[in-house]
Amino acid sequence: MLNVKVIPCLTDNYSYLLESDSVLAVVDPSEEAPILAALEGRKLDFILATHHHHDHIGALPALKARFPQAQVLAAQADAHRIAPVDRWLVEGDQIKIGSAVAEVWFIPGHTTGHIAYVFKQGAAVFCGDTLFTLGCGRLFEGTPAQMWQSLARLRALPADTRVFCGHEYTLESGAYAASIEPTNLYLQKYLQKAKVLRAQGLPTIPL
Ligand code: ZN
Ligand code: FE
Repeated sequence: MLNVKVIPCLTDNYSYLLESDSVLAVVDPSEEAPILAALEGRKLDFILATHHHHDHIGALPALKARFPQAQVLAAQADAHRIAPVDRWLVEGDQIKIGSAVAEVWFIPGHTTGHIAYVFKQGAAVFCGDTLFTLGCGRLFEGTPAQMWQSLARLRALPADTRVFCGHEYTLESGAYAASIEPTNLYLQKYLQKAKVLRAQGLPTIPL
């Protein structure tokens, strides 16, 4: 069983608190205070990063200092730009959060070191800034071909997979999507739902 708590950080970032069998992990620690609030006094066991951008690892050093026993996991390809890290990850690696198992996918495009954490049981993917709801991340470092391949892999995940992305960009991406497909009723229905959630200050994630 994998429990996920969405933690809004900064302007439009999301960090995630994962819990399985009382083991706690944070994905993309953006900001310390909201993560500590979500922990409610409990200790972190794992800190996971999807890529090196500051809005995803800004609180990593502070959290590691506060929870020295927590294992920090990040992509081997980002070894020169994420610290401190206890375990470097490459494509195909498995990680365990309690009884929840995730496979590490190397999905370059937004950056050249970007990874995703794919939980097959529990059907959840933490994909940072590669795939957003109705959009994708900017190509800061990778090539369009790399991004396309990464998105194609994510697209092939089972349809019930919950997508936990790095930012709340749903309405902006949705407005663009609607301009491309103005007659897409499914999209219009979804965007209406998303607008209601955002008007209440609630995340549209996961889709
Ligand atoms: Zn980023
Ligand atoms: Fe970001």
